[in-house]
Amino acid sequence: MHADLHTHTTASDGRLSPADVVAGAAEAGVDLLAITDHDTLDGVAAVAAAMPAGLRLIPGIELSANWRNSGVHIVGLQIDPDNSTLLKGVAQQTRVREQRAVEIARRLEKAGFTQTLEGARALAGGRQIGRPHFARYLVESGQIKDISTAFKRHLGRGKRGDVRQGWPEFTTVIDWIRAAGGIAVLAHPAKYKLTNLRLEALCAEFAAAGGAAMEVVSGRQEAALTDKLARMANRHGLRASAGSDFHQPGQSWAQLGDVQPLPPDCRPVWQDW
Ligand code: AMP
Ligand code: MN
Ligand code: MN
Ligand code: MN
Repeated sequence: MHADLHTHTTASDGRLSPADVVAGAAEAGVDLLAITDHDTLDGVAAVAAAMPAGLRLIPGIELSANWRNSGVHIVGLQIDPDNSTLLKGVAQQTRVREQRAVEIARRLEKAGFTQTLEGARALAGGRQIGRPHFARYLVESGQIKDISTAFKRHLGRGKRGDVRQGWPEFTTVIDWIRAAGGIAVLAHPAKYKLTNLRLEALCAEFAAAGGAAMEVVSGRQEAALTDKLARMANRHGLRASAGSDFHQPGQSWAQLGDVQPLPPDCRPVWQDW
C-alpha cells in the first residue's frame, strides 16, 4: 500500500489546489491519500466527488491544539466531514485563527514590520490564515529575505509571532475527531522538540485521551528516528501513520507521495480500511 496520509492544499497553507494535489498524488503512484488541511475540511470537500480510479481519498484534517503549553497538531483520519460536532470545532478554530492573525500582526508591527495583516490576509485569500502567510508576505514585500529567516527570527517556536493563545486542549480536539467517527493521529511527534521524557508523557496522555495512532513517518527522516517512533508507538498501543506533510513542490522535507515504508513491526493505521 502506498499511502500519503498528511497533505495540504490551498484550503490552508499549501500552494497547490486540492485538484492538483490529487493529480500529483495519482502521478506519484499513491493509492491512499489523505488531505489534512489545517483546521478546515474545504480541501476534502473540493475533490471528494471527483477522485481518479485507483486513488482513494481519506477525509482528513490537521487540528491545532495545546498540550502543556506546547502547540501540537492532531490529524483526524476517516472523519465524517458532515459531523456537526466536528463542524462546530472547525468553526471555532476559524475564529481562533482570525483573532490570532490580528495578534500576530500586532506583534510583528511592534517589531517594525508594516501592513502585515492586510498582506497575510490577501495571500490567504479568505481561506484558513496562518503563520506561513505572514512569512510569505514579509518576503514578497521585501521586508525579510526568505521564509526560513522569517520563521527563525519572528514566527517559529517561541518567537514573537508564535501565538498559541486560543487553541483548545488536545483532549478536546481528540473528542471532535472521535465524535466524527475518525481516528486521532499525533502528527509529526519529533517536530515539537520535546525531551524524550516529555514526548513519552505526550504519547501516554494522547493514548489515554482516545488517540489511536501516531505518525511514525513524517516526510524524509533518519532511519534511527523512524525506529525510535515505531517503538514508541508500539509501547503506547498506538497504530502507525505515515505522510509527507506536503505543502508545495520543491519543499525540502518531502515531495507528494514521498513516504518511506513503515517498519515491519508497526500496525499501519490503514490495515483494516
Ligand atoms: P500555523 O498553522 O499558523 O501555526 O503555522 C504552522 C505552519 O507553519 C506549519 O504547518 C508549517 O507549514 C509552517 N512552518 C512552521 N515552521 C516553519 C519553518 N521553519 N519554515 C517554513 N514553514 C514553517
Ligand atoms: Mn502547514
Ligand atoms: Mn503540522
Ligand atoms: Mn501538516
